Amino acid sequence: MGKDSSDMMGSLFGDALAATPAAVRVVPVLVPLPVPVAYSYAVPDGMHVEPGSVVQVPVGPRQVIGVVWDGENDERLDPKKLRPITLTFDCPPLSKDMRDFVDWVSAYTLSPPGLVARMAIRAPAALDPEPMVEGLRYLGGEPDRLTPARTRVLDLAREQDVPWTRSGLAHAAGVSLSVIDGLIKQGMFDTIFLAPPPVVAPPEPDYIAPRIEGPQKEAAQEIVASIREGGFAASLIDGVTGSGKTEVYFEAIAETLRRGKQVMILLPEIALTPAFLERFEQRFGAKPAEWHSDLSPRMREKVWRGVVTGEVRVVAGARSALFLPFEELGLIIVDEEHDPAYKQEERVFYNARDMAVVRARIGNFPVVLVSATPSVESQVNGLSGRYNLVQLPTRFGDAALPDLHLIDMRRHPPERGGFLSPLLVRAMKRTLEKKEQSLLFLNRRGYAPLTLCRVCGHRFQCPQCSSWLVEHRFRSQIQCHQCGYSERTPEACPECGTLDHLVACGPGVERIAEEVEKHFPDARTIVMSSDILGGVKRMRLELEAIAKGDVDIVIGTQLVAKGHNFPLMTLVGIVDADLGLANGDPRAAERTFQLLSQVTGRAGRTGLKSHGLIQTFQPMHPVMQAIVSGDSTAFYEREISEREKALLPPFGRLASLIVSADTRVDAETHARGLRAAAPQVSGISVLGPAEAPIALVRGRYRFRLLVHGRRNSDMQAFLKTMIGQGPKVRGTVQIQLDIDPQSFL
Ligand code: ADP
Ligand code: ZN
Repeated sequence: MGKDSSDMMGSLFGDALAATPAAVRVVPVLVPLPVPVAYSYAVPDGMHVEPGSVVQVPVGPRQVIGVVWDGENDERLDPKKLRPITLTFDCPPLSKDMRDFVDWVSAYTLSPPGLVARMAIRAPAALDPEPMVEGLRYLGGEPDRLTPARTRVLDLAREQDVPWTRSGLAHAAGVSLSVIDGLIKQGMFDTIFLAPPPVVAPPEPDYIAPRIEGPQKEAAQEIVASIREGGFAASLIDGVTGSGKTEVYFEAIAETLRRGKQVMILLPEIALTPAFLERFEQRFGAKPAEWHSDLSPRMREKVWRGVVTGEVRVVAGARSALFLPFEELGLIIVDEEHDPAYKQEERVFYNARDMAVVRARIGNFPVVLVSATPSVESQVNGLSGRYNLVQLPTRFGDAALPDLHLIDMRRHPPERGGFLSPLLVRAMKRTLEKKEQSLLFLNRRGYAPLTLCRVCGHRFQCPQCSSWLVEHRFRSQIQCHQCGYSERTPEACPECGTLDHLVACGPGVERIAEEVEKHFPDARTIVMSSDILGGVKRMRLELEAIAKGDVDIVIGTQLVAKGHNFPLMTLVGIVDADLGLANGDPRAAERTFQLLSQVTGRAGRTGLKSHGLIQTFQPMHPVMQAIVSGDSTAFYEREISEREKALLPPFGRLASLIVSADTRVDAETHARGLRAAAPQVSGISVLGPAEAPIALVRGRYRFRLLVHGRRNSDMQAFLKTMIGQGPKVRGTVQIQLDIDPQSFL
């Protein structure tokens, strides 16, 4: 209703209505709380808001940041009884595409929309324009005394007539800040205010483009064509490690930049792969902006603002970058698309790979998935033609893939108390003699996965979880890998009191390091795992040291598997290839294949002859056979046909519900109640409840229900009904809902 007609109604119906401020609008606002709908707020007179506006609103006694949302308001609401929006932030509103994306993710994952929207907006400071920085302007004139340092400064200021920052000028002239201050005092410069420097310089699409030929050229042309055509298109680049996939998608990025659009690159371990940023810089003349949890809050704010205003053209980020509200996004790249790190398993459970495709579809632009070992889901989409499949079967240039062999551990067992077969040790020795590097891979942190007392058999278990404590000998601690609980490694058994009779069972990377030390006391050995003291900074330094050749033997968890380029690495030994196969996860074979391919792919990336040795007790297992034969096609065919038979994803759908509570009986009762409330729908069945494989985490008992549906089933509707009709969530009970689960623990 326009303003005029409401005025008219005011006069027609007398003062009572006229007193009602008819101009007061009511808008829905998503608040960052686990509630199913937007709350309604009144818009104060004179405040301008529209769908997408980022606002501050009161919720109870608190002020929170929310987003004005789309949709009609409940006519019955009386604006007078509603609380007003407190303020609006000075930043562009979330676009319609972004709002549609948030709604889509919320509906698909059955997560509260406000919690999804929260991932797209930043802390209040990021919403204010960046403060101006103080700068210096050269005014001319001569100082009382001319020193060489002063001359350098003045020459520079005359040569480059640009505003300098105080420290920038000192740095460029190679003088101390006091020299600058002296010149300011004498009136040679005055202070002005400058716009803050950009987070990153703009990348140039044609800065230094490599020659692209053969299969790479075809691949790049195909993808570039889809970008020129415009509109949504999904491509899958499937190429062995080192085949030049990155170079191919750089072409897609260049084309997108030429068209004036922004680009998002998702990478699973961006914080640990600074080499990627450098490579990007060599190609485009500037680094992409980074986005991951190890950035300082200040930097995150800057990047967020740059993305929203369009100043930042390319972001390379971890999965959370998916929710950055780009001004004009034109391409998403998902590198290592099979990586489990794309799945978020807290608050909002989502797979960034899948949601990237959704975001591209809503925004009507292309998305490119990239992997040497694509997920079965993406393979199926590639083979069926839903995705444009681009294959690069050989390594670029003269780099050969490593020569892979299985070591049958039943025939070549390690020495007593050890875990490395003599065959592997011999290969390491030869590698050392050639002054090349070896990598031993074991996906297990710490010293030993289980510690027990030799006298009474006591096992060290976490007091809050149903998991064993893992010994970390470097720190003299035993630790729970579920909840982080730790205690000092005791000298005596707490059960029987016997001293010095604790035995470690099984290996972790620290224990392998001890064995390596025995065999090669003079080698420079390093252990890389995510619990290294010193965090990401230290890890980055160590990765650099490995790349430079300052290390002979690396012993690492999956941390070393991802994306690194170690030129001298010519031997990769897999300590326990069977480790991931035995856990009842439907993706166990696929995961093992991907991980082992990725780890062995670290070797021989620069043309040196390289080897991979894989220790296994199951040399005939299809995964092991696929790895050594290099025949991934046969492996995928078999995986795909088995999934199809069992109607597992992508041929069927899964959802997992974890019901947890402070007592076992509460958790189990609630889970049973949910099961009983499940509607009868053909094509969907509920399995369980069963105690979760990790039955106790942080003092909470866990029961699991697995919902299995046919491909076309409406799982979301089913789950909503089941939870809606199920028992009321009471006391300490919590339900965690995971659509397309990756973890089955
Ligand atoms: P992938 O992403 O498939 O692992 P990369 O793109 O990293 O492969 O390429 C492997 C190596 O080959 C890199 O060192 C890269 O610089 C080089 N390379 C790939 N394509 C080209 C090209 N067209 N010209 C020059 N070097 C290339
Ligand atoms: Zn624990």
